Amino acid sequence: MDTGAPPHFTQLVFEVFFRMAKKEFQAESKRLLDLMIHSIYTHHEIFLRELISNASDATDKLYYNAMQEGRTGVTRDSLPIRITLDKDKRQLTLSDNGCGMTAEEMEENLGTIAHSGSLAFKQQMDAGDQDEVSIIGQFGVGFYAAFMVAKQVEVISRAETTGECSRWVSDGADGYTIAPAERASSGTDIILTMKDNTDNENFDEYLDPYRVQSIVRKYSDYIRYPIQMDMPRSRVKEGSDPEKPEYEDYMELTTLNSMVPIWKKAKSELTDDDYNNFYKSKFYDFKDPALHIHMNTEGAVTFNALLFVPASAPFNYYTKDYEKGLQLYSNGVLIMERCADLLPDHFSFVRGLVDSADLSLNISREMLQHDRHLKLIANSLEKKIKSELLGLLKNDRDKYEGFFKAFGVQLKYGAYVEYGAHKELLQDLLMYESSSENKLVTLEEYVSRMQEDQTYIYYACGESPAKISLLPQMERLRDKGYEVLYMSDPIDEFCVKMLRDYQGKEFKSITDGDLGLESEEEKQEIQKLTADNQALLDQIKDALDGKVTKVQLTSRLKSHPCCLSTEGAVSLEMEKVLKAQRMGDEPEIKAERVLELNASHPIFHKLSALVGDKDKLKTYADILYTQAQLIEGIAPEDPVAYANAVCGLLSE
Ligand code: ADP
Repeated sequence: MDTGAPPHFTQLVFEVFFRMAKKEFQAESKRLLDLMIHSIYTHHEIFLRELISNASDATDKLYYNAMQEGRTGVTRDSLPIRITLDKDKRQLTLSDNGCGMTAEEMEENLGTIAHSGSLAFKQQMDAGDQDEVSIIGQFGVGFYAAFMVAKQVEVISRAETTGECSRWVSDGADGYTIAPAERASSGTDIILTMKDNTDNENFDEYLDPYRVQSIVRKYSDYIRYPIQMDMPRSRVKEGSDPEKPEYEDYMELTTLNSMVPIWKKAKSELTDDDYNNFYKSKFYDFKDPALHIHMNTEGAVTFNALLFVPASAPFNYYTKDYEKGLQLYSNGVLIMERCADLLPDHFSFVRGLVDSADLSLNISREMLQHDRHLKLIANSLEKKIKSELLGLLKNDRDKYEGFFKAFGVQLKYGAYVEYGAHKELLQDLLMYESSSENKLVTLEEYVSRMQEDQTYIYYACGESPAKISLLPQMERLRDKGYEVLYMSDPIDEFCVKMLRDYQGKEFKSITDGDLGLESEEEKQEIQKLTADNQALLDQIKDALDGKVTKVQLTSRLKSHPCCLSTEGAVSLEMEKVLKAQRMGDEPEIKAERVLELNASHPIFHKLSALVGDKDKLKTYADILYTQAQLIEGIAPEDPVAYANAVCGLLSE
């Protein structure tokens, strides 16, 4: 051996960066760790699920590489995950034969909190709107969960890539050490020394083989590698008298999990609980899903799919951080964590997985996008999701409404985008609040109970159903007994404009110019009144100085003196939404306002008397216009001028 040879490069790196000195956790990790150590979370047991899932991911990576390189002799069964219990040392060890980690990867993965599950957890924790307990259950917190039960965590890992082996040890939040170590083959051992028991907590349970077996079965049954542990057994002692048999205890290496992925099992074998537990552990939700869909499809393309509609929206669902997609497996092997092409945007809330033997294991992302099988699968998933949602609407209204409150905006957005290309698919899934019932109604329900003389589906937009119901324009419709849909999501009116009609009935905003409410007689009467008062209307329009495109008389009002309506494509609600979304120096898009006056209101007679008194008429016109805007939820451009004008009148 040439002892004078320079040390290997990685060895040098090791010595420079990873000396035995204790390192501090990154500040964010430290906080998370503190939380874990002092956790009051009652389901400590999930620590095992988290560690097994990491072990399985690491084994997947090794298995995948072996398949890619065409290595022979590597089967799933040859890559077991092993649990060892040592009651005397109070240690639970979890060993895998996965890809392992280099010292640098240990530093990166275990010392910082930049990883998916844990990062999401931290963000939620920072948002501070939920208590610790529910967030732990919601996300799973990965590796750090070990600190809920262990006072010391030791990780010995040998990287498949470099053969380098290191030991990472931490006693808690004050830091960790990394040093070189030995391990015969690639993989990782996680050695947990259990916390001391307290009056309230007993950590010995994680050293009891039966308890550990039941945790593994509960959370990790579907893991596709054997999870093995020595289980106590009893047998007849060799050579003992068959008449009076003597028994001896022994330990037998036992595979604890069934390994058959749940999606490959027959539906008849599975209960709702099986689906719900699988969903919660795999997708880190703490609530049961609103719906599960299990498909075993054979035909043009053969696949199994297991889809879930969550009961509530993930905290980042309506942000750009949310990534849609389903896990994609080829014959049981994970080939993509989030395959976006399997889900249309309007169903981006669906979580789950697809497994198809028709897809090649080595397919690249680019090729996958154009894959014919994938397109067929995506189409059939879309149809199935729609029909299952309709089924839920029909059979479990409360649950559907809960779903719709969480994800309805996404469905409306889906009906709006791409010039309404998906409206046929989505319109039956939409729901709105309504003037007739204090609950959500579907378009089908609305149309089925329209009055005989009613031509349009009426809708009104505003901040909230309560505010909309107070709009002056509502009075006439209410008198007629027409139901009005209340729309208070910013996307609503854009969506309705794209839907245009439903079952041949056109949508009509209650602020539209012509509501189709007036009889011929009323129309003629308005025409006559307009002709008689043309000079007044012209003067009011001039006085408003370009703020409105028209001033006209209306029969749609009852007790109010005036209201605003609009002409053209942009309504007042749309103007508000567009204004809120306006960026930088983009031109402002304004609705074309029409001031409508109620000719039978006393104020109108007052106005008539002011023809000729230009200044006074302007004061009245400004006040009425501002009030009409206020009713629509639009703040006056000059509140001081408005207040002064009102005060002026009050002090007359
Ligand atoms: P997450 O699993 O959400 O990424 P974790 O905190 O559980 O976060 O783990 C952090 C990272 O540490 C993992 O992403 C993985 O790279 C690495 N890791 C954890 N356990 C193992 C293991 N048994 N074998 C190899 N790498 C592991």
